Amino acid sequence: MERHCLRCGAPFQGRIDKKFCCDDCRTDWNNERRRERDKKLREINRILSANWKVLSDELRAGHYRLPAAELSARNFNFQIYTTSERRFPGGRTYWCYNLAYRVSWSGSVRILTRLSE
Ligand SMILES: [Zn+2]
Repeated sequence: MERHCLRCGAPFQGRIDKKFCCDDCRTDWNNERRRERDKKLREINRILSANWKVLSDELRAGHYRLPAAELSARNFNFQIYTTSERRFPGGRTYWCYNLAYRVSWSGSVRILTRLSE
C-alpha cells in the first residue's frame, strides 16, 4: 500500500509503521513539533511567572485578602495555575508554584503564606 510522507506528502513504500519518506523529513517534523511545544510552554511559564509576581507583590504589601477583581485588574490569569485541590467546604486551593490562594464564592481571594495552611 502506498503511503504519503507526513512532512512533505511524497509517496513512499516501506514498513507499515513508517511515516516519513526520509530522515530529513522525520527530523524536520520532530523539530517543528518541539518548537510548537516549547512555544506553548513558554507562554504558560510567562503567565505563571506574571501571576506569581502579582501574588508576591500583594503579600509583600500585606494584602492577604482582596477582591478577585483587583487581581484581574492586574492581569492575573485565574485559568492558569500549577495545581489545585479541594480542601475546604465550598472552595478550592490553587497553587502558583509555592504560593497558594483560595477563591471564595463571594469573589474574594485569600493568599496563603504557608505551604501547610
Ligand atoms: Zn518527506
